[in-house]
Amino acid sequence: MAEHYEYLVLDGKILPYQEAKLHILTPAVKYGATAFEGLRAYWNEDLQQLFVFRSSDHMSRLMQSGRLMGMESVDYTVEELNDLLCDLLIANKIREDVHIRPSLFVVGEGQVPARGPVSLGMAVIPMERWADKTYRLCISSWRRIDDNSLSPRIKCAANYQNGRMALIQAKEDGYDGCLMLDHRGHVTEEPRGCFFMVRKGVPVTSPLTDDILESITRETLIELFNEFHGIQTEVREIDRTELYVAEEVFLCGTGMEVTPVGQIDRFLVGNGQIGPLTTTIRQSYIGIARGVDGRHSEWRMPVYPGV
Ligand code: PMP
Repeated sequence: MAEHYEYLVLDGKILPYQEAKLHILTPAVKYGATAFEGLRAYWNEDLQQLFVFRSSDHMSRLMQSGRLMGMESVDYTVEELNDLLCDLLIANKIREDVHIRPSLFVVGEGQVPARGPVSLGMAVIPMERWADKTYRLCISSWRRIDDNSLSPRIKCAANYQNGRMALIQAKEDGYDGCLMLDHRGHVTEEPRGCFFMVRKGVPVTSPLTDDILESITRETLIELFNEFHGIQTEVREIDRTELYVAEEVFLCGTGMEVTPVGQIDRFLVGNGQIGPLTTTIRQSYIGIARGVDGRHSEWRMPVYPGV
């Protein structure tokens, strides 16, 4: 796996890795005035093609985050962002699975309320695989931020300090991660992904209005459960004690894909191993994302022309 790739994007231009730098006085660095995205591109060996999964949805969410952060509007359409991303992947000759990080930065030397100028960055990062094991989670004693403070709907650097504190605590206490509760005590999400549990054979996940990111993977899995497996996901508020009696629990996200959970607060989930619905939906998701399963081609952006 490469340590890093040769080119990045800053100010909308493809630059050598070392040249893509920000000044320490930019509001992005001083105050965390940064919105970002995380995408994955999957290499399909049979088709000799690189597919970016749901690129337009990620680029739209990036623009939505920038808007919700009060950033000056940026002059890129989703199509232009997709094209720039393809150019960057081609410049780096990517023929393996990678992680992609587009960001909007408030630059210049403004103070806290600065809305611009806004610069666009994109990075291609070698993809670390999530360990193939069941995760051990705790309930964090840190509360999830809420829609009227700094909304978890916004994917911005500042939001991730809430999850960062929770993850530091969880890891110090010997867990792999944690679930965060909202101010009413309902289950929201893990600091890096969304949450599903299975109760009485039915997948259940928290609503988008319960202080979670509008996760693209969550939406994909709800659709795949329905379309491929004929199973309706229940979207509703989730109590803490439901976690301790769930048959299966898994986390999901672009980075996490589908990550099984074997323990929560030292209660075993099922028998502690990956459960049947988790296995099924994980296979469906990876098949679609890599394009081994040809359905939903509208979700895969092919990078190399003429393949
Ligand atoms: N919640 C949080 C806090 C996340 O960081 C992520 C990862 N982006 C997710 C949920 C999952 O979102 P997505 O499926 O769009 O990657």
